[in-house]
Amino acid sequence: TSAQIGVTGLAVMGRNLARNFARNGYTVAVHNRTAARTHALVEEFGQEGDFIAAETAKEFVAALERPRRLVVMVKAGEPTDAVIQEFAPLLEPGDMIIDGGNAHFADTRRRERDLRERGIHFVGMGVSGGEEGALHGPSIMPGGPKESYDSLGPMLEKISAKAADGAPCVTHVGPDGAGHFVKMVHNGIEYADMQLIGEAYQLLRDVAGYSPAEIAEIFRTWNTGRLDSYLIEITAEVLSHVDAATGKPFVDVVVDQAEQKGTGRWTVQIALDLGVPVSGIAEAVFARSLSGHAQLREASRGLAGPKAAPLNEAEAAAFADRVEQALYASKIVSYTQGFHEIAAGSEEYGWDIDLGAVSSIWRGGCIIRAAFLDRIRAAYDARPDLPSLLSDETFAREIADAQDAWREVLVSATLQGVPTPGFAAALAYYDALRAERLPAALTQGQRDFFGAHTYRRVDRDGSFHTLWGGDRSEVSA
Ligand code: NDP
Repeated sequence: TSAQIGVTGLAVMGRNLARNFARNGYTVAVHNRTAARTHALVEEFGQEGDFIAAETAKEFVAALERPRRLVVMVKAGEPTDAVIQEFAPLLEPGDMIIDGGNAHFADTRRRERDLRERGIHFVGMGVSGGEEGALHGPSIMPGGPKESYDSLGPMLEKISAKAADGAPCVTHVGPDGAGHFVKMVHNGIEYADMQLIGEAYQLLRDVAGYSPAEIAEIFRTWNTGRLDSYLIEITAEVLSHVDAATGKPFVDVVVDQAEQKGTGRWTVQIALDLGVPVSGIAEAVFARSLSGHAQLREASRGLAGPKAAPLNEAEAAAFADRVEQALYASKIVSYTQGFHEIAAGSEEYGWDIDLGAVSSIWRGGCIIRAAFLDRIRAAYDARPDLPSLLSDETFAREIADAQDAWREVLVSATLQGVPTPGFAAALAYYDALRAERLPAALTQGQRDFFGAHTYRRVDRDGSFHTLWGGDRSEVSA
């Protein structure tokens, strides 16, 4: 017998993905640089389905039916290139290499181009949902040649998460790097979601005076409403957890320095290159980096802060309701920014990404899965050329309803000295977009003054320069 799919790289992700394929009835060839992992998998989980253990690259390739479908699940970066170098010479035209790691989309574009010249289809495939998702159904974001999706797609649809309406959480995102790009932005949005939730928690604790256990209950309530999502759900779990060793809330015994693996940072770096304002995602990345500057924070402990008057019980409850509104409004802005980046990437690289389909495949399996994504999909389905999520009537109305509470929360945060960069950046973005006039006009004047960079006028076409050092008359540039 031969295998319909092969997985090389059998650490947590690869192993679980291989098991997921096998549990869905596919014969799976498995391979790992260190063969011990391959044998361990078959020994431990062999009864779950049909596995073919391969010790060498040659055996692995020989075990696959043609066209070969070879999933690479190794450490992103150089290891991925090393594995491609090893396998590509053993493959034949029409075979597929599917990279399920967290590759940078620019690497995916390069690999796709190189392999295309050799007749091999390269599929850069974003996978979200962690190890549990890989086993029980991840959200899958494959890019690459459309024709490879014809044969690969049905298999991915089988192993992927399913949304509440039964739709598989996978779609052909677009050519070359489109899948990994979308996965990257997914992670950027995830950073922003987590930061906003963190700010909500801090406000409920420091301004409203609630305990972590009480805040967990508040999050549980929120999770039954429009904020219903995986991240809100696990937030309640983490906040209600008590440390066994000390009896203290778990959240109080964890060092408050957030780490990151880099996809959030990429989202911001690429957004800067594309000229897309993703201020909420950027603040989330910066907040993690600030938290890690232990010495800087230590040295700043004595800096002055406001004298805060705590809220009474009735005020606290009303405040919690306002925080929910601020969180929801800020979340809309984060997604608006993230989808803007996807639209801009799609435009720049000619990917023709369907934004409604992207929100659809994020409804299950991935870390940012949420009821909310159904609404985003509806917005893009109704108007595929929607310039921004904020121009969707429903979202615009919801923000209009939430904005007073949102502003009041930021006032409280400011007066009490609780840092809320995510909430604040989201509101600033909203206010800037709806502004009649921005101080960018003044910026242009300054640029023209010191560098003769010219400006455009509101009342006439063309570029102009004012002779600032002379008689201040205006000339056409
Ligand atoms: P790791 O990222 O820890 O990678 C370990 C695997 O890579 C092992 O199988 C290892 O083989 C192999 N490997 C490393 N270097 C080489 C090399 N030079 N040549 C051949 N094989 C090599 O494993 P994970 O399972 O955590 O992640 C796999 C991929 O999935 C990564 O790209 C990751 O970013 C991505 N991902 C991870 C998620 C997660 O939640 N962990 C979620 C979504 C994506 P060996 O056993 O021989 O050392």
